[in-house]
Amino acid sequence: MNCNVCDAPMEDDGGIVGEFGILPVAFCCWCSSSMTDMVIQMQGFDDIDILKERIKELEEDAKQESKAKKAREKKKT
Ligand SMILES: [Zn+2]
Repeated sequence: MNCNVCDAPMEDDGGIVGEFGILPVAFCCWCSSSMTDMVIQMQGFDDIDILKERIKELEEDAKQESKAKKAREKKKT
């Protein structure tokens, strides 16, 4: 099995084997770490202000979720 990006043979070096939808894919450790870096940069997750904003959103989501959960539990009783 070879990396789908650079065609290097897959070894036990921390690469990823999985599926994109139904398409089987394999990425060597270099390509998978490059893709991870790319996503981090594209999403702005290397920017402290954007990360702080995202954390706020996640905390809001968690609050909403716990409120909804409590409401569901109240209905049951
Ligand atoms: Zn590769």
